[in-house]
Amino acid sequence: MKKVIYIAGLGHSGSTILDMALGCHSKIVGLGEIYAVFNKKNPDALFKNSTCSCGEKGKDCDFWKDLQEISSSENSTKKKYKKLISVFTKKYGKDMILLDSSKNSYPYLKFLNKKYDLRVIYLTRDFRNWTYSRFERTGKPMIFLALRWFLENKKLLFVLKKYKINKMSVGYEELALYPEFILKKISAFVNVEFSENMLNPDNTNSHIINGNISRIDKEKRTGFFYDSRWLTSGRLMRITGILSFLNKMNNRLVYSNISESKEGDFYIFGKQKKETLLKEHNE
Ligand SMILES: [Zn+2]
Repeated sequence: MKKVIYIAGLGHSGSTILDMALGCHSKIVGLGEIYAVFNKKNPDALFKNSTCSCGEKGKDCDFWKDLQEISSSENSTKKKYKKLISVFTKKYGKDMILLDSSKNSYPYLKFLNKKYDLRVIYLTRDFRNWTYSRFERTGKPMIFLALRWFLENKKLLFVLKKYKINKMSVGYEELALYPEFILKKISAFVNVEFSENMLNPDNTNSHIINGNISRIDKEKRTGFFYDSRWLTSGRLMRITGILSFLNKMNNRLVYSNISESKEGDFYIFGKQKKETLLKEHNE
């Protein structure tokens, strides 16, 4: 059965950089936000103006150039997807894994789950970081944005559960701060061998024409960089008390891979490792 990886979660959660990192693996090709490409009001403009992560304009991109027509057709997303898979398989062979980072819980996920070996990575950015970054961009009240983070995540998770889709939760914080550790975990989840290549998203084979503009940002492509500006925000600090009810969900979605061990330890900063070292190397 053909394997499809799907990155789910809210917008602005780091899905483009994860798409590119996974796309560095020789067995994975990322295609960015496929749903958005298929449902553009003006696909001609997209193919003409948008630069793909491979460096070419959409119309000249080695992968998308053959799909311009189906993108602008009136067919359903499901039909377009079937066509996409057949073009993909012809081009890369049947064992190559397709990666879709459309993020939302679109109804076609149900079809993907039934027809393919679907692996969903649920990517979440810490609500404080997400709220701060959306506030900086839109100026909307932080309380409103934080509640949006909560409600949209609730909705997405509800739909994935309804479709009986298995998922792995990954935090943007975990990924950006401990990329090797998290990419190893993701590799195990999608059942490919970890490759060092993934640590430098610039190596990507992905063809992302619709996604965050970081896809063509030379500096950002060379590694994982954590946007820590939210830590300096007094405005955010003042409201986090009111929003403490989000902590449980935040910890579960964003930090489960680095904090959930049998010993209750926290990645390499936990007590256990320190105590072992102290015993062995101190007087
Ligand atoms: Zn391309």
